Amino acid sequence: MQDTEIIKGSFCSFIEKLCNLETFDEAFELVDEDAVGMGIGTGEFVIGKEKLYQLMKNSPSVFSAEESAVEFDNAVVRCYDNCAFICMLILLHVRNGENVITHRFAHSAQMRNDGDGWKIVMLQATPLGDESHSMEEYPYSVTAECGGSYKVQEMLAKVMHHSLLGVYEADLTNDIWKRWHNFNESEYAFRITGSYEKDIFANAETSADDETRLRLIQTFSASNLIRLYNSEKFDLCEEFEVKGRNGHDNVWMSVNAFLYKDRFDHVTVQFYLVDIDDNKREELRLKKISETDLMTGIYNRDTFMHKTDRYIEEELLPGCGAFFMIDIDNFKSINDTYGHSAGDEVITAVARVLKSTFRKADIIGRLGGDEFAVFYTGKKIEDILTSKAEFIEKEVLDSCKGFNNVTLSIGIALCGKGDNFESLYEKADRALYDRKKNYGKNGYCFFGDNTPEI
Ligand code: GH3
Ligand code: MG
Repeated sequence: MQDTEIIKGSFCSFIEKLCNLETFDEAFELVDEDAVGMGIGTGEFVIGKEKLYQLMKNSPSVFSAEESAVEFDNAVVRCYDNCAFICMLILLHVRNGENVITHRFAHSAQMRNDGDGWKIVMLQATPLGDESHSMEEYPYSVTAECGGSYKVQEMLAKVMHHSLLGVYEADLTNDIWKRWHNFNESEYAFRITGSYEKDIFANAETSADDETRLRLIQTFSASNLIRLYNSEKFDLCEEFEVKGRNGHDNVWMSVNAFLYKDRFDHVTVQFYLVDIDDNKREELRLKKISETDLMTGIYNRDTFMHKTDRYIEEELLPGCGAFFMIDIDNFKSINDTYGHSAGDEVITAVARVLKSTFRKADIIGRLGGDEFAVFYTGKKIEDILTSKAEFIEKEVLDSCKGFNNVTLSIGIALCGKGDNFESLYEKADRALYDRKKNYGKNGYCFFGDNTPEI
């Protein structure tokens, strides 16, 4: 049997069991422990099987009926690997004495299969009034059509395993919130006070930095989301850092959003705010380790190369950019005379001096052994570059006094049109070689310059 048929069959059986007090508990065998309930009668959100059970058991009086019969209509099932979305119209005919009353509900559910059968991870139910409703009008069927990509399914499933801070829905066409719920009164949850757009601006103010704030406003402005919807992008996920409150560290969050048109043809966004702090910090830690030279804490060769190439391509301003190659003179003899760990100390000292000499925007790396490189991003004014080289020489000499005259040879290449890491490395290395060969170590030399200093 097709998964869609299995899902439909088990969901219908779930509903049938729910409608009979004797089988009510049995129905809940299909519900995942972490299931989320949305709008079950009360318009509330609940998390966890137990809470969902209580909410449903205590809600509609239909379960106390003497007799009931269930009919299903207009089922829509979307199945993506181990995630599925189902929505359908349910007609519940209940008899109490002489009276038979028909209740109409629209039900939707997210289901997940972790290997031992399909389980409900999200359940949503809305009672429909007496007027005729077709499922085509029902927002969730529209959601299934428009937002039903695999990514959305995955996102919802993921959301249900993370720290969910809140769920929000807004009508972008009219710039109004439709509904929202903040869980556990988190101080980092989204604050809703006015119109959608106004609140996006206000909440973006809590971002850790200006760049993030701008990105959030640009991404989540109503006009941008409507534009995305019109270009058939129906889901997005943004990670961002929020300023820590009350002296705490910053906190990483993600917004998982999807877009659809409601039954009034209004573009609507539904998004989930998730606390991803632990995972994100671990991810950043591993990234840092992979990018860094462990001994010195500056970039390793690979990262230095990529960052330099990217900077030249995307950020370098006209008249700016120079490449320094820095090599410790007679380093082998430092190792031989004072021991390998003394050599390590000297390497660390050079990295420290480079960090204190250059600005944050400059890129500093250890290319290997006793060889360092700096991509200087400022104006390529020779006076500045020579004073940088002289400063490094002097500082290293001062900070390595215990090891008898630690000196450096430095090759400098100015960044020109068409240059990249490889060409600059070659030029600066040539300058370094020239310095050592023609004028002796302990000093610097510019590429293409026959009059080295010091
Ligand atoms: P030159 O003056 O021409 O630059 O010669 P040098 O002795 O500085 O350079 P050479 O390339 O001959 O030797 C570099 C030495 O650096 C060889 C290697 O054993 C040592 N080395 C490489 N990595 C490390 C390290 O991480 N720690 C220490 N202590 N030594 C290292
Ligand atoms: Mg050397």
